[in-house]
Amino acid sequence: MTARVLVVDDILPNVKLLEAKLSGEYFDVITASSGAEAIQKAEKESPDIILLDVMMPGMDGFETCQRLKSSPATAHIPVVMVTALTDATDRVRGLESGADDFLSKPVNDIALMARVRSLVRLKMTVDEWRIRENTANQFGFVGNKGTFLAEPSEKARVLIIEDKSFESEKFIETLKRDDDEIVAVRSGDQAMDMAQHNDFDIITVSLNLQGEDGLRLCSHLRSNERTRAVPILMVAEEGDMKRIAQGLEIGAHDYILRPVDRNELLARVRTQIRRKRYQDRLRSNYEQSLSLALTDSLTGLFNRRYLMVHLEKLLNKNKESNKSLCCLMMDIDHFKKINDTYGHQVGDDVLKVFAERVSQRLRSFDLVARLGGEEFVVVLPDISQDMAFQVAERLRKGICNTKFEVSGPHGQIDVSVSIGAAMITGAQNLKVEDVLKQADDELYRAKEGGRNRVYFMGHGHVQLPERPPAPPPADGSAPAEEKVSGDTIKKII
Ligand code: GH3
Ligand code: MG
Ligand code: MG
Repeated sequence: MTARVLVVDDILPNVKLLEAKLSGEYFDVITASSGAEAIQKAEKESPDIILLDVMMPGMDGFETCQRLKSSPATAHIPVVMVTALTDATDRVRGLESGADDFLSKPVNDIALMARVRSLVRLKMTVDEWRIRENTANQFGFVGNKGTFLAEPSEKARVLIIEDKSFESEKFIETLKRDDDEIVAVRSGDQAMDMAQHNDFDIITVSLNLQGEDGLRLCSHLRSNERTRAVPILMVAEEGDMKRIAQGLEIGAHDYILRPVDRNELLARVRTQIRRKRYQDRLRSNYEQSLSLALTDSLTGLFNRRYLMVHLEKLLNKNKESNKSLCCLMMDIDHFKKINDTYGHQVGDDVLKVFAERVSQRLRSFDLVARLGGEEFVVVLPDISQDMAFQVAERLRKGICNTKFEVSGPHGQIDVSVSIGAAMITGAQNLKVEDVLKQADDELYRAKEGGRNRVYFMGHGHVQLPERPPAPPPADGSAPAEEKVSGDTIKKII
């Protein structure tokens, strides 16, 4: 893995030392000698991680970090504070200003490389979601531009894996300050069982469990579907540095050394929870925007964009399996008159009820989309012509046989629909446009033929009913109840 590292220190020999270590591991190193320069370079050169000195004249490391983490342009870049300060208070201050970790000078090589690698890897995941969110934004959905520091860190669900009671009690007492919901277990088996049935926001794993390998447990948690995305905080002794490095390599997010400082624990747990919540939000924004981009907001049905892509897939599948597919083009009759007579709002109500009725009368794997205006398309995969005709008739009757409930003083009104259908056999090699055109031609004939009827294209035409269509709802009065029997079906082969 290669990555671009920004090293920030006001003392040149310090910069050179870190630069040499990192270049030796094939990292691409850029440098800055002040907080202001660091912010500028972070914005311009998109580093993958920033190693930031704390004691600098002018803007110190805490303030620099705070600014980097508050700006949407740089908030996603991990920051590791590098300092001679070893006081836990300083570490906590750094974490609270948004730093991802703290390394003490002189920097331990194993700790440095393990940290850089793991933070770069975590950044890659967040980057992926940022890119997706960006793409989704191009569909017109504006995502939340906040940074992870703005996420709440309270009321989280925490799983503690620790076999020493006094240690887990200390954890529970500390985390209670944030109203966290805490479950403490003593072994890996209990932990896996717990995690299998509950969702957690963070899991702390002791690397010093009796008769059990904490690292193996971390690896189980990483590979388990349910816990894969849950941050892991390792708890270890100072002498465990090599195992900590392995843990970070496996995918644990962070670690804390014993004796555990309560404030540091709180700060590290909060950071991980904020990160997870931020990432969860990116994901749900993405899913939401995707659904907004592919569905019609008025009816909740799929839109034209989705239909075009999906119908092509269905046609290919139809070809491969050599089955038949039916495409129904539906257009509400005299819809303009409904708008003109009752108003646009009632027109919208009709579209919504229409969409519901059609959806309810289809199989779960049939596709229904709003093409635009009062035009809808239904795709029935793997279906015979007779069955497809019955479905089309069921849909048509479902519209005209029961009045539509609408808002306003009108209460209930009559609506009818005309349907044109195209049967596509697997042997045909048709494009999406051809299929829609065929169905549209039939729809045109259905309208010409008198409306409120199904025209069927395939091996012949079927039309129904052979009687005048529902009159347009000019005065809001209901047309005569439709009575159609099977023997009015006329088949022209
Ligand atoms: P036909 O029986 O031949 O289909 O006649 P029609 O009046 O249904 O067809 P036309 O295409 O002339 O009119 C469609 C109308 O649908 C015109 C347009 O203003 C209206 N419309 C399109 N989208 C919407 C919408 O989202 N809401 C409402 N209320 N009306 C819409
Ligand atoms: Mg119409
Ligand atoms: Mg129309």
